[in-house]
Amino acid sequence: MRRKKTQVTLATKPAGQNFFRVYSAHVYMSQNLMNHQKLVIIGSGPAGLTAAIYAARAELAPIILEGKHPGGQLMETTHVENFPGFPDGIMGPELIMNMRKQAVKFGADARMETAVSVDFSDPKKLIVTTEKETYSAESVILSTGASARWLGLGKGEEKYWGKGYTACATCDGAFFRNKIVGVVGGGDSACEEASFLTRFAGKVHMFVRSDQWRASKPMIKRVMENPKIEIHMQRSVVDLYGETVLEGVMLQNNEMMEVEKFALHGLFMAIGHKPNTDVFKDFVPVDNKGYFDVQGDTGSGIESVFIAGDCGDWHYRQAITAAGYGCMAALDAEKYLTGSVGGY
Ligand code: NDP
Repeated sequence: MRRKKTQVTLATKPAGQNFFRVYSAHVYMSQNLMNHQKLVIIGSGPAGLTAAIYAARAELAPIILEGKHPGGQLMETTHVENFPGFPDGIMGPELIMNMRKQAVKFGADARMETAVSVDFSDPKKLIVTTEKETYSAESVILSTGASARWLGLGKGEEKYWGKGYTACATCDGAFFRNKIVGVVGGGDSACEEASFLTRFAGKVHMFVRSDQWRASKPMIKRVMENPKIEIHMQRSVVDLYGETVLEGVMLQNNEMMEVEKFALHGLFMAIGHKPNTDVFKDFVPVDNKGYFDVQGDTGSGIESVFIAGDCGDWHYRQAITAAGYGCMAALDAEKYLTGSVGGY
């Protein structure tokens, strides 16, 4: 458990002085007692918003720091077909807006602010945001999510995102029935995604950038034995093409350094996820992949700080599991705040 106390730098301009001063979060906090909260929820994907619904209904009046781009990964998804309760599916952004509306209806206060630094060393947890606000909270739920890694091809990726270019086979696989798809990556995720996609796609091409797999032996065996999967070692996707939707990729042979056109209907990225935990790492233990090291069900290892959703879950990474963790974290925070359990 790490309980390091750091200085938080706040850009303030005291009257008559034209220079920046450095305040510790504690000093600043004492000037902003208005911002003392029972519960602050950081992150506004399904985990954070579900936590907010439960906490608001429990009259904890939670503040949600929803960030500059509220809603998380679902805001970049099109049709969500596997979230229970929507037999005809629902658009990702609509699902998020519904959850947000529900949370606000019960009294949650959603603010478009991003936590940029924290001090969790004392019982009152301090959070500084992009708006230069400092919040102190009796309890905090961290639901900051994780971001799928992209190839870094620039604008092309944004153009085709959700139009053939995606990072979630479970979410989008069913849209590629009898189509030709590619999977980038040579780890367990790529193998799992490729195997899953064979349920729908007519053909799955795996592109592994080197001559080495990162995946475990049983996973490699599974993809090698699947007649619907074709493996292309030492191949990198260096560009995407298509009029309005993805129609194919430019594929580089890393041995010969030659590039060729490769027609595809869909491309699934499986080159890892990056958990959004950097801001909290000095206080909240993370595992060797950078995910919060969840203890018990939702514990962070720090008293009164709880974890929900993908930031502490490299495995399931589904909207519904994130929502479930959000519910659990809110119930745990409530029990902590009402003194009915130890807290973490
Ligand atoms: P990994 O880090 O294990 O693998 C990432 C893969 O993507 C590697 O093959 C890597 O290649 C490749 N890659 C990275 N960047 C690029 C790039 N820019 N272009 C092309 N390829 C790239 O990530 P995973 O998500 O697969 O797995 C994460 C963790 O989750 C692992 O510990 C894994 O074991 C675990 N996991 C377990 C599962 C299970 O047990 N059922 C299922 C899924 C994941 P290179 O090797 O060249 O760097």
